[in-house]
Amino acid sequence: MREKLLGKTPTELKEVALKVGLPAFAGKQLAQWLYVRRVKSIDEMTNISKVGRERLKEEYDLGVILPSACQTSTDGTKKYLFPIGEGNAVEAVMIPDDDRKTLCVSSQVGCRMGCKFCMTGRQGFHGHLSVADILSQFIAIDESMDLTNTVFMGMGEPLDNYDNVMKAIEVLTADWGFAWSPKRITLSTIGVLPALKKYLDSCRCHIAVSLHNPFGEERAQIMPFQKAWPIADVVALLREYDFTGQRRVSFEYTMFKGMNDDKQHADALIRLLKGMECRVNLIRFHKIPDAPFDTTPQVIMENFRDRVSNQGITCTIRASRGEDILAACGMLAGEHNR
Ligand code: SF4
Repeated sequence: MREKLLGKTPTELKEVALKVGLPAFAGKQLAQWLYVRRVKSIDEMTNISKVGRERLKEEYDLGVILPSACQTSTDGTKKYLFPIGEGNAVEAVMIPDDDRKTLCVSSQVGCRMGCKFCMTGRQGFHGHLSVADILSQFIAIDESMDLTNTVFMGMGEPLDNYDNVMKAIEVLTADWGFAWSPKRITLSTIGVLPALKKYLDSCRCHIAVSLHNPFGEERAQIMPFQKAWPIADVVALLREYDFTGQRRVSFEYTMFKGMNDDKQHADALIRLLKGMECRVNLIRFHKIPDAPFDTTPQVIMENFRDRVSNQGITCTIRASRGEDILAACGMLAGEHNR
């Protein structure tokens, strides 16, 4: 298999240029075509000689995977399907909102965290996405040049594919890359403790933690990795960092009827997060086949939100997007795998 260009730094691209007989400065030109112009084929790199492009194609693959399908929701959300090989596929979701266009990207084929309420978790783990596979989701879609934000909240646990995700974030934030501010990027995790510490020490992007239940034993029933990385330890680690500046921490709390939506859970959540500079996002559970969970009624969600907010913790109900095309939280599976 040919090596992929997408994901390489200008220094690495200079080596590529020299290897195929191009001048060293072509490394910078390659970076421009990949990350600024975001071309979808080597043939579009018109300031590289035709002979040079042919040599590049012999040795390298651009790394952009074109979507094999795209569905559009009644609310404008678009779900793209990318074939990843061996019958596997991943999905990315573009969510328009006023003047913002946010891309929810996948980091793995499936997921090994096994959260019981999640379609991705159910399908098991089929491999990590490469840096090129991750970046390709940003480049291959129609809205590539209009994207304003991204969330690593698609299929997979991003901190379980740490090196590739961090390299993708480097490309997104580098001056020679997409040149995005870290403020435009949020990484969502269940709290993979060792990798979370590395992330907090080295990256200025936002962090979102999937909390879903403040009681450890109950959380373990829906999120098996609670046993390895208890939420109390995750919160204790986060408390060591400053979130009063540009970097923000938020907690995702999917509400399951009769399971985590009463006063006891609200009060335990308040005790867990009291005094932290953070936000809680309440998420309506989106029904998936054969899962023993129900959706909390809106009025109960609002009571829960008010109880938490009244204790000084910012708490909002997140609007569901793309539910009609199975693009909402917890619904991504990659059509090929279903
Ligand atoms: Fe993996 Fe996230 Fe789904 Fe859990 S919720 S199984 S971490 S994709």
